[in-house]
Amino acid sequence: MSRFNHVLIVDWSANSTPKRGADSIWIGSAGTARTAPENHATRHEAIAALRTRLDSALAAGERVLVAFDIGFGYPRGFAARLTGQPDALAVWDWLAARITDDARNRNNRFEVAAEINRHFPGLGPFWGRPSGRDLPDLPEKGSLRHGVGLDELRATETLCSGAHPMWKLYTTGSVGSQSLLGQAHLAGLRAAYGAQLSVWPMQGADAPIVLAETYLSLLNPAIRAAEQTYPCRDAAQVDLLARALHNADLAALLAPSAPPDVLREEGWILGAGAESALLAELDTPDLVPPRLRDDCFAMPQGVNWVPVDTALDRLRDALHPVTCVEQVPTRAGGGRVLAQDAIARRANPPAANSAVDGFGFAHATLQGDGPYRLPLVAGRAAAGQPFGGAVPPGKAVRILTGAILPEGVDTVVLEEDCASDGARVAFDGPVKPRANTRKAGEDVRAGGVFLSQGRRLAPPDLALATALGLPQLPVFSRLRVGVLSTGDEVLDAPCADAADYQIFDANRPMLLDIARRWGHAPVDLGHAPDNPELIRAAFDAAATRCDVVLTSGGASAGDEDHVARLLRNEGQLSSWRIALKPGRPLALALWQGLPVIGLPGNPVAAFVCTLIFARPALSLMAGSGWTTPQGFAVPAAFSKRKKPGRREYLRARLNAAGAAEVFMSEGSGRISGLSWAEGLVELSDGAADITPGQPVRYIPFSSFGL
Ligand code: AMP
Ligand code: MG
Repeated sequence: MSRFNHVLIVDWSANSTPKRGADSIWIGSAGTARTAPENHATRHEAIAALRTRLDSALAAGERVLVAFDIGFGYPRGFAARLTGQPDALAVWDWLAARITDDARNRNNRFEVAAEINRHFPGLGPFWGRPSGRDLPDLPEKGSLRHGVGLDELRATETLCSGAHPMWKLYTTGSVGSQSLLGQAHLAGLRAAYGAQLSVWPMQGADAPIVLAETYLSLLNPAIRAAEQTYPCRDAAQVDLLARALHNADLAALLAPSAPPDVLREEGWILGAGAESALLAELDTPDLVPPRLRDDCFAMPQGVNWVPVDTALDRLRDALHPVTCVEQVPTRAGGGRVLAQDAIARRANPPAANSAVDGFGFAHATLQGDGPYRLPLVAGRAAAGQPFGGAVPPGKAVRILTGAILPEGVDTVVLEEDCASDGARVAFDGPVKPRANTRKAGEDVRAGGVFLSQGRRLAPPDLALATALGLPQLPVFSRLRVGVLSTGDEVLDAPCADAADYQIFDANRPMLLDIARRWGHAPVDLGHAPDNPELIRAAFDAAATRCDVVLTSGGASAGDEDHVARLLRNEGQLSSWRIALKPGRPLALALWQGLPVIGLPGNPVAAFVCTLIFARPALSLMAGSGWTTPQGFAVPAAFSKRKKPGRREYLRARLNAAGAAEVFMSEGSGRISGLSWAEGLVELSDGAADITPGQPVRYIPFSSFGL
């Protein structure tokens, strides 16, 4: 079985602190759903992201090949000496029991390597460490080693030019460190997925999930040319290798001609010796591109005025999630987006308990129709103070709300319905079996999915996740939304000496606050005058700090519309003339692969376009899926006639009678109307002749998440 729906390539890292960008963890993917390379700051984050992908593939009945650029085994003789078995996977388990690697990348790899060296004669095989680390069993230089009696390279490494030995732990090409930490993490994946996962070549390649090792430098001749279009070299490597392996004849690559005992003990590099075949695969045109396509925002030829719904559909098709996964304490999860389905670790309630203060007994032991008189046992059951023994048949126990039902109790009578002298309790019938009790797991059972991936966590979700035993939740990292204002007339902030021709930047504070309210990470990119050099510098800076940029001003095709001109000349721009009032020009562009949404300069139009277009776009990129605002039919408190051909949004609010009134002016420069409004009335694309009392669609700002 060599068909895989997805090929993932993981460029692993041995960093001791969280890090993004070059020399951190990158995951490339090719297959049915090809996405841009993902970057992860920590190993824990990367493994969580990987598990999300593997879980969803398994749920969809798909197969995944995950290849890591670490060594899976060591030169012959090592595994047997260390573990007693000539088996690379025994080394994984040995390491998993000793390696510590916390969520901030702090780890003990040098200490563990020193411990391994103590199992071998002489000094070695591992070497390399930060100077000043007091580890006498781990030499600082390779040349200091002696008498270990192991080869430097594995058989497979002799086929790969430039491969570094597994023994080297420090400085350039220290695959050794990456492998020590990686094998420990992969042992965890093996344990988590059981028979659903096999490790190649030791266990074959037939399971739904197959882990393999590969070598990122296999495609070096193609990397230099491609590198420019990626955030860094590592991103280019994982992306191209994923593509090449996905296109390649994997059946051939997965059948190396090495003796089985070598494969089992040393492992094998997927693609070793097949560089030219893999390079050839890169020439095959790829169906699904790695990042947003250059022309992804283009409207078909001949489309002049784009209806709002068409624009939304195209935006939705062009974008995809771009964020990474991180773990946060549950109490800090409010507003974040769940990156994996959340599974209950315990039931709610964990055990059957009483819903009221009263008296508990076994229902089956009641005689006749009542009234009943039962002797009380000594003691009581209270929340947090379980009743020690069992309640004998025919007796009752004092029980308080939330107390676990003691053995012998399945029914509770409310204390207000009882008379008691402390030794007996009397109450009337009829009493239903299990009255006033809560069953174990009646709310949520252990093991069930209680919140789905993509859910934006609301306050009650934090209560639920905590009740169900989750101290941490995997969430998508916040989408970094840059906000840039442009225009020569625009001043950064209010000041006393502004000239009449100058205006204060009203859009930026508004857009930054909107991004924050939507749960993203706003990035203030400041203001740039209508000067291509300065706008270019602002975009270049944004490309390293943001996942998406909102600009305002300069987005149409006028003389001074420098943003549009720059993006057209140096990025990829599609200017959409949207059949929308207020709004019209909306520029969608890519700057070095960074999506840029160019909003109109006018604050009213900028606001409406943000709610209508940027909100679902950002939500999709942030991992919480496309959103459509909830509107309500309410009677109009205004009259308005409208021609067909464009959609209109009126600044509106509900009056005391619950009818929608609209702002007295539709002038798009009237910012005061935005403050006055509490929502928008949406008038559909066709003609309309609205008179008071007629239903109209009102969308409160809260429906836009504000
Ligand atoms: P533009 O889209 O650049 O043609 O600008 C349209 C209108 O919006 C002009 O009147 C601009 O002065 C105004 N404008 C542009 N940017 C801002 C801003 N950041 N704050 C307030 N008004 C702006
Ligand atoms: Mg302008």
